[in-house]
Amino acid sequence: MGRRFVLLDRDGTLIVDRHYLADPQGVELLPGVGAGLRQMRELGLGLVVITNQSGVGRGYFTLEQVEQVHQRLGQLLAVEQVQLDGIYSCPHTPADGCSCRKPATGLVEKAASELDFEPQSCFVVGDRLCDVELGRRIGATTFLVRGETGQINEGKMAMAPDYLVAGVGEVGAILAGLLN
Ligand SMILES: [Mg+2]
Ligand SMILES: [Zn+2]
Repeated sequence: MGRRFVLLDRDGTLIVDRHYLADPQGVELLPGVGAGLRQMRELGLGLVVITNQSGVGRGYFTLEQVEQVHQRLGQLLAVEQVQLDGIYSCPHTPADGCSCRKPATGLVEKAASELDFEPQSCFVVGDRLCDVELGRRIGATTFLVRGETGQINEGKMAMAPDYLVAGVGEVGAILAGLLN
């Protein structure tokens, strides 16, 4: 079996959710993200971001701007001595009916093919119902991150995750317990 991967949501999970973020200067890591991702790396896990960016399809910003935001994210993570294996974005709107907007599994299948991992062996981390649903669909272990104020957004608990956590730092600690 290949390396196991953590599939991470971007907005509200790794960085502050600015709602349709287009400006690289708006990228801000959430507390505990650097340490949590470092811990995952030390456990030998691969790290991939899977993100819905419908702002592209809605005309709010371009794919180039998404790429600039991701370059900035990479810089901030490098300061934390963390490197991602990849970032996969869906640029479509819900109305497009694509196969890659979470909870659809298209981006996971693409990443699994390119990076050689088994989707069902993954750990999916996100702050929304669509993230938990994605994890369920691929047979992965799911972590739901609470909001910044500790709230659970409406509808979130309609589908219970395997773990409810305060943030990515807590995921790192749980994975250390599961995998060691
Ligand atoms: Mg999110
Ligand atoms: Zn899509």
